[in-house]
Amino acid sequence: MLELLFLLLPIAAAYGWYMGRRSIRIKQQNNQQQLSRNYYEGLNFLLSDQPDKAVDLFIDMLQVDEETFDTHLSLGTLFRKRGEVDRSIRIHQNLIARPNISFEQRDLAMMELGKDFLAAGLYDRAEEIFLQLVKDPDHSEESERQLLSIYQATKEWWKAIRVAKRFKRASRKALLPTVAHYYCELAGIEQDSATVIKLLNTALKTDPQCARANVQLARLALKEGRDKDALAAFERLCEQSGGFAVELVEPIEEAYQRQDRALRYREILEDLLVKEGQVSILLALAKLVEREEGADAAQQLILSQLKRQPTMRGFHQLMRLQLALVDSEQAKDSLVLLSDLVEKQIRLRPKYRCQNCGFPGHTLYWHCPSCKSWGQIKRIRGLDGE
Ligand SMILES: [Zn+2]
Repeated sequence: MLELLFLLLPIAAAYGWYMGRRSIRIKQQNNQQQLSRNYYEGLNFLLSDQPDKAVDLFIDMLQVDEETFDTHLSLGTLFRKRGEVDRSIRIHQNLIARPNISFEQRDLAMMELGKDFLAAGLYDRAEEIFLQLVKDPDHSEESERQLLSIYQATKEWWKAIRVAKRFKRASRKALLPTVAHYYCELAGIEQDSATVIKLLNTALKTDPQCARANVQLARLALKEGRDKDALAAFERLCEQSGGFAVELVEPIEEAYQRQDRALRYREILEDLLVKEGQVSILLALAKLVEREEGADAAQQLILSQLKRQPTMRGFHQLMRLQLALVDSEQAKDSLVLLSDLVEKQIRLRPKYRCQNCGFPGHTLYWHCPSCKSWGQIKRIRGLDGE
């Protein structure tokens, strides 16, 4: 009998092993079923516009299965892109708090959390994160870019310049025009004239095509009565591309007159008109021609240009010149009425537009308030522009 019992022992052991395996399998199946039930439930919450409940559920699920890390990381990013930054912060903070994630995963979640803080305008917290991540070669480039965005937003230009200098060679070269704008920004807030000039010259050294530095140098020289310096900066600007010379065409005229160089001013305007074709240049030239050769010659000049390139401002000036030549009172009244209407229309239209994002405005911003690009806002061309 005892022998029989011994014979049954392996069977009992095999049965125990089988039952153990079975219960593990059942538990796994239950977990998976629970997981997919939770996923469907979470998706339902998302679809029925109850994202708060969905977020809670997804966060709970993380405790169930750590392999959902990537899904949670993407979910947080998705919320940030939709502008729901508080939710993305919650998700990414929760990921970082997990004790069993790898260093790599933790850094990825930190990077996303830094971007969340940046999007929420919590610049000091974002800076803290990116200053940590910048030490890691895998994340240094991305962190440098993010730090640059922070310092641009907080207008800490020296810090921005220092970060830009740390970029890899190719990226650093591409950033030079932007860095030149940082020096111009510093010049804009500096009070001491000698320092301002030094900063603007550094901007030109950084990017010889920086039109803004020449505009600021010419304006400062005009303000301080340094005509020769103003003319030098203006003529450098005329050599540059980008069509920014038009910004100084009017205020620079008196400096040429004072320096007895009216002929040179006319030459420059004629060259600029051929090169840029902007109506402000045409009007400045027409004013000069009117003074030197009379209203008829000025009218001829505007007419010939208008045939090639019709603009509202050109027509408006033509009407003003016509007023002086018309005898009939009735015709004069009609012209005045028409001229006023056109003037109102011109004043209503935006003068500038960002070449990058289309942001319109009445003043020249060197840093686009909408897309944050530098030097892309220019005078609008076409019928109701330049
Ligand atoms: Zn823009």
